[in-house]
Amino acid sequence: MSIVADRLRAVRPSGTKVMTARANDLRARGVDVITLSQGEPDFDTPETVRAAGIAAINAGHTRYTPVAGVQPLREAIRETVRRDHGLDYALDQITVGCGAKQVIFNGLFASLDPGDEVVIPTPCWVSYPDMVALAGGKPVTVACPEDHGFKLRPEVLDQAITPRTKWLMLNSPNNPTGAVYSAMDLAALAAVLRRHPRVHVLSDDIYEKLVYDVPFATMAAVAPDLVERTLVVNGVSKANAMTGWRVGYGAGPTALIKAMNTIQGQTSSHTSSISQYAAIEAIAGDQAYVDAFRTAFRTRRDLVVDRLNQADGLRCRPPEGAFYVFVSCAGVIGKQTQDGRTIETDTDFALHLLETFGVAVVPGAGFLASPYIRVSYAAAREDLERACARIVAACAALTGKTCR
Ligand code: PLP
Repeated sequence: MSIVADRLRAVRPSGTKVMTARANDLRARGVDVITLSQGEPDFDTPETVRAAGIAAINAGHTRYTPVAGVQPLREAIRETVRRDHGLDYALDQITVGCGAKQVIFNGLFASLDPGDEVVIPTPCWVSYPDMVALAGGKPVTVACPEDHGFKLRPEVLDQAITPRTKWLMLNSPNNPTGAVYSAMDLAALAAVLRRHPRVHVLSDDIYEKLVYDVPFATMAAVAPDLVERTLVVNGVSKANAMTGWRVGYGAGPTALIKAMNTIQGQTSSHTSSISQYAAIEAIAGDQAYVDAFRTAFRTRRDLVVDRLNQADGLRCRPPEGAFYVFVSCAGVIGKQTQDGRTIETDTDFALHLLETFGVAVVPGAGFLASPYIRVSYAAAREDLERACARIVAACAALTGKTCR
């Protein structure tokens, strides 16, 4: 009899973490590897936030906190959400968890009964389908092709909804495509949701601050009549360069937040007290650095899109947000490597890039969309330049051509 529970059969390890671990292994063996597989800014946590963390330790904020998070942090979140989106939540409608990831998991675990369905537009973040499965639900993936801008169309949503549908997962800006839903896109989806009152919306807004060409919009603000069935998820990991601090938050219906707190209270209790105090500074303090991050990301995005579009066999559109480029690698599928292996899938291509050219990217298969690779541009400019040159060289070797 296996020590591992049956419910784990439906769950895969995170694809991004697997690629990054492989890259780290190679690096530990002395191989020169450039890692563009991580979903994390290369910037240090801003000085003001680090100082707030140190001050929290020195002030003795090192004990258990309330399960939902310390009150000043929840007040800062309430204020931000009110100021930025005009949404008015009571304090007991806000919960703080160990990153947006745990908040999403708590939200699903608190709400899904066996067989409840969750509509997940794909390409999607690697963790959604597995989290749904782990929580006992049924992921219903819905393809959103590139010629739809990688976005869910209202008629496609309508067709995907069944009497068992409990949630629609929305993620804008999107990981892995960088697609951003406009207020108009969301309004069109809201019109469908109004016809299906049982369906809730999990709005994963973790990349909110990283939009380049279009304004950010969120469902609860676009369709205030849907607030009572929307869970807004956000956090400090991405825009504030705080991935390791593990602070995310959820704002939503009181009963759901209460149930999420019950789960948290019986599992992690809460995220680190020190991180919570640092997050108050990140959310309520001066955030001029976010503009600097955004400007740097935009420049890097333009560089990567430009360089990769010069590679034979690859093609990509400039993404509107987040820090990823989702690159079609259809043109290298079926090609032979110099040692005689055929590139049959995007996973083969990503492994070839890693093992022969020392560049770690994530295959589209992990995001349920092939044949693509996801290239993270949250890396230093020199690394991006070197990595793109290697990818271009890899493609030239595969297709037998030099750059376009
Ligand atoms: N949601 C999406 C779409 C993400 O890409 C990520 C991180 O990669 C998360 C949530 C998790 O964020 P956190 O680090 O705050 O848990």
